[in-house]
Amino acid sequence: MSGPEETMQFLFALRRHGVTEPRVLSAMEATDRRAFVRGVFAERAAADTPLPIACGQTISQPSIVGLMTQALELGQRDKVLEIGTGSGYQAAILARLARRVYSIERHPRLAREARAALDGQGIVNVTVVTGDGSRGLPEQAPFDRIMVTAAAEDPPGPLLAQLRPGGIMVLPVGQSDHVQTLIRIRRDASGDQYDELCQVRFVPLVEGVARD
Ligand code: SAH
Repeated sequence: MSGPEETMQFLFALRRHGVTEPRVLSAMEATDRRAFVRGVFAERAAADTPLPIACGQTISQPSIVGLMTQALELGQRDKVLEIGTGSGYQAAILARLARRVYSIERHPRLAREARAALDGQGIVNVTVVTGDGSRGLPEQAPFDRIMVTAAAEDPPGPLLAQLRPGGIMVLPVGQSDHVQTLIRIRRDASGDQYDELCQVRFVPLVEGVARD
């Protein structure tokens, strides 16, 4: 954040949207969103709006980042999988609240730029992987928490298979050109409990690795 006034407005917008968990608010206050957006858009980094990034993708609205992070109920020892690294902003926040974050991005260019932005912020517990996140990361499974930041019609089977018992997964589901629903899946002894959290709009989860 730049000035104290901007920081206050940023935190106020988060609270107004229901982001109230103190650890999540501190992690977001500590993470400079400007470091994850380019050029002219950096000026608008403190605004509670999505912004364009490279490869026709978007960095999510901060209040949605906050709500999704809060819904994940992270513990300090957690191993987290994020699908859709994009700018790396969400990964940076997860990294402050968990032990280890693996984040998968299908655009090699975004994966490279996110890595550089995370390095610039001194964040060392995130591994950015270029690949198709709809397959998850079997070699590191199971995960305590999984967050998907691109919309699928249904929760991808491989991701469900990589969530450990007691784990939580948060993801938008629905058709890509429509309003989607953010859902939380909690895996407990009696099975998977599904909660609908709010309406959202994400770019689609696309299979395969992109060329650029
Ligand atoms: N979490 C990001 C915003 C995500 S935008 C941030 O904090 O900036 C969604 C991202 O998901 C895009 O970068 C898109 O390229 C990526 N994506 C879409 N389908 C994917 C897939 N199958 N595997 C990995 N990444 C995917």
